[in-house]
Amino acid sequence: MGVDVDRSVASTANRLRSGSYLNGQWVEGGAEFDVVDPATSQAFARVSTINQAQLHEALDTAEKALPLWRSTTAKERGALLHRVADELVRRKGELAQTITRENGKPLAQSEGEVAMSEDHLRWFAEEGRRVYGRTVPPQVPGKRHMVVKTPIGPVGAIAPWNFPLVLAVRKVAPAMAAGCPVILKPASQTPLSCIVLAECMEAAGVPAGVFQLAIGDAVMISREFLTNPKCRKISFTGSTRVGQELIRGAAETIKPLCLELGGLAPVLVFDDCDLDKAVEQTVIAKFRNTGQSCIAANRIYVQRGIYREFVERFTAAVGRLKVGAGLDAGVDLGPVIHQRALDGALQQIADAVAKGARVVAGGERVAGLAGYFLQPTVLENVSDASVCMSEETFAPIAPIAMFDTEAEAIARANDTPYGLSAYAMTRDMGRVFRLSEQIEAGTLGINDGAPTTSQLPFGGVKQSGWGRELGVEGLDAFLETKHVSMGGI
Ligand code: NAP
Repeated sequence: MGVDVDRSVASTANRLRSGSYLNGQWVEGGAEFDVVDPATSQAFARVSTINQAQLHEALDTAEKALPLWRSTTAKERGALLHRVADELVRRKGELAQTITRENGKPLAQSEGEVAMSEDHLRWFAEEGRRVYGRTVPPQVPGKRHMVVKTPIGPVGAIAPWNFPLVLAVRKVAPAMAAGCPVILKPASQTPLSCIVLAECMEAAGVPAGVFQLAIGDAVMISREFLTNPKCRKISFTGSTRVGQELIRGAAETIKPLCLELGGLAPVLVFDDCDLDKAVEQTVIAKFRNTGQSCIAANRIYVQRGIYREFVERFTAAVGRLKVGAGLDAGVDLGPVIHQRALDGALQQIADAVAKGARVVAGGERVAGLAGYFLQPTVLENVSDASVCMSEETFAPIAPIAMFDTEAEAIARANDTPYGLSAYAMTRDMGRVFRLSEQIEAGTLGINDGAPTTSQLPFGGVKQSGWGRELGVEGLDAFLETKHVSMGGI
């Protein structure tokens, strides 16, 4: 049974599978759910789920795959990951359309997501060859000491819907490069991109059990990952609320967790900035992925001297953004993911206005479109007491407030339980160093609204999470560090 993908939007598609990929086999026929196109609010595919016994078996399979996979050379593992990347490239048009269809983002951004996924695969394919240990001089004569790195074992990976392909690849590629079999659970809103990823794994010849795709109930899957000793680590990207649940569950078994959670990114626009660049980069940081990014600009603080000019130029730039179905040409903003997200965004706007904000652009649902479309919205004079300044917005709403001094800007930026990313627009190098030292975030973009890249660590501080993905840190997350002490050799 295949997913009924509309041929007009996936014309190059092979017929998509519609279920999980376990032990080298497609498993279909379980309880099904709909995949909804947020641009139309209509279901366009059905996907089947697996049950707990099947997941349990998948972990047995992963454990059986471990000895062979970890003893394969890093070069061979890398060659396989390159082949997976080749498959992604071969199917990139169809894959981008699939991402847009299930997530809603503009097609050009989906193409960018496929390109970044390819880059992650190729970067970890290479970096896996540089897993070095070390030798250390002894304190006692005659002893020898070595530090060796070994794969942690089977990994449970849980991905969100906002970047359905690249955030899955960000876990799967380093785990596999490190020598770990991995079971991926995609978000229920967006399972199709991960089904294509599994097809690419199959076509590339990844051995059975090294990569498995498990579509099913989130609570059942996470409970099995948490309680089954064969799952040696959980790598999760999603909300802080679910992250907290996983921490509670992991307490029982001391399960290692990597948690990539929510953000509340501040943008600090200083009066020495290049204003054109500041506007351009703030638009990217805010409106990319229709504002549904964990690193999206959530709070924009502008220094008094340039406040009015920034608001005017920023609002003009936002006015040029085209809203529409992601598959339509020239679209900058698609729909938000579902009705609940749209309702929450409208509530945040109403709350900000009730607390003194002025709507300078947008503010309402887009009339005449069936999907979950919100006008790109700019709010100014927004109180820090507003919900949109203290809770993740995940929608195309840009709230702007004014500040006077650098110290005040830093204090307000840090005044949150979150710390995933932050942005600053400035040309003052002294300030860049002070911000680098004082801003509490895992990533700081200076005049850079899109800082994430394969070779650099990504993750959060405070309630934005534990651990890092990408970069050498992202590979190390799937490795154990062992001290081997030798006496009398
Ligand atoms: P979510 O509700 O936490 O879901 C994320 C994933 O967790 C999905 O696969 C979901 O499965 C699963 N899940 C749901 N309930 C679970 C439970 N009780 N136990 C285990 N897994 C569970 O988050 P979301 O709404 O998809 O994503 C938005 C959030 O992710 C935002 O807060 C955003 O900031 C954060 N995010 C963080 C990063 C980062 O790198 N730090 C990146 C992107 C997004 P189902 O879909 O089947 O429910």
